[in-house]
Amino acid sequence: MKKFSKAVIPAAMALTMTLSTTALAGPQSNPNGPYIEGEQNISLSSYMSNEELTKTLQKLETSSKGKMKLEVVGYSNHTLDGYKTEADKGDPLYVVKFGDADPNKKRILITTQIHGNEQIGTEAAIDIIQKLSSGGQEIDEILDKVSIWIMPRINPEGSDNTFEGKWYPTRYTHQTWLPENIALPASTVAPWYYNADGSERGQANEGRVVYGIPGYDQNRDYNPNLDFRVEKEDKNKVSAFLNSKATNNSNYGGFYVTAEARTVTKVFQEFKPDVFVDVHHRGFNTLSDEDNRSVPVQVAAVVADPYTDPFSGKQYEVDEEVLKLGKQVNALANLALQRGNSHYGAVQKYPDVNLPGTALGAFALNDAAIMLIEIKGQSQTLGQKQAGMLKETVKVPLFEVFKGLADGSIHDVDTAIYDAIPESTNRIEDPSTRD
Ligand SMILES: [Zn+2]
Repeated sequence: MKKFSKAVIPAAMALTMTLSTTALAGPQSNPNGPYIEGEQNISLSSYMSNEELTKTLQKLETSSKGKMKLEVVGYSNHTLDGYKTEADKGDPLYVVKFGDADPNKKRILITTQIHGNEQIGTEAAIDIIQKLSSGGQEIDEILDKVSIWIMPRINPEGSDNTFEGKWYPTRYTHQTWLPENIALPASTVAPWYYNADGSERGQANEGRVVYGIPGYDQNRDYNPNLDFRVEKEDKNKVSAFLNSKATNNSNYGGFYVTAEARTVTKVFQEFKPDVFVDVHHRGFNTLSDEDNRSVPVQVAAVVADPYTDPFSGKQYEVDEEVLKLGKQVNALANLALQRGNSHYGAVQKYPDVNLPGTALGAFALNDAAIMLIEIKGQSQTLGQKQAGMLKETVKVPLFEVFKGLADGSIHDVDTAIYDAIPESTNRIEDPSTRD
């Protein structure tokens, strides 16, 4: 296995490093703070394993009486665009369909758990699927006008990762960089978002657990050129691109080396959604110096600047109308969370980033209005604490968006509401060295 021999920034830290302008609220100083301490046990028992997810989805399809279609659209296979044996197929990637890719309907695509250690999005997706498949007047009115496709847990291997015999979900996929397999010279350096040693932050072991299975940050493997495939490009050009630190970095789109990113992109291209929502988890913040409510979610309608594909020269830009709809979707989500007087409403905007290799970035540059939902905490830092409440912070806004798309009222939402969402600030530092 290849070791880190270069100055590679672990992908998990790359985003953190863009937050240098963000004020810090100081590290957690008591054991009841948001971060789980070394001696506290992390319980994940309420979350679904891959097997349980499959069973649940199959059951829901049966009980939906035809409303919902469950399809396997690909596998987390280790070999690119094809597998030689059944075992090589890996885990299934599902799409749950309510309605067709009908151009006369509004279309929304939702993905969860692109990072395997971010479970609550998937748990929320299951609740949403259950509600949609159970029907009723409100649901019928939505599905009459809106097609909803949901891909729960698009990183099944990271999700079901184990370490020392225990379930240990990780951010990364499972796959080894083998440049020869895609006709690149053997000396070609891996994409910068490759996690060569198979490591993840942990609550023990000085903040780092080496589970030993290499993989990728799938959410850097997308490319605004949705048809980019290493196999179709000039191999010397790709190799030179990867071998230079000036180009092998987060300013550029990814390389579509994961089966997972390829599969999700295939679904995106078939469905052509008006709106694309990707559900993540992140760290901890309080709302402001004056308001110390813990921030349950951050949202964003923009994650990528205009982009020029270095291979084809083609230019990509977020369309003005698309950006407007994205802001309206995020604004409506924010309004939905403001109702009542709880810390649901302590919403912040995700920090300003330019990440053309993320699913959201690449799809926004291909005419989808986007919403990033970032729930607080991850498997290793929050366990399943507050999971019930945090699930609601995904479900409540999404149902408002479904309704707004169905009756068209989303187009009346003032984008200034989005602009006024408080910026990310008062980040609470991780008490261990893992941050
Ligand atoms: Zn994430």
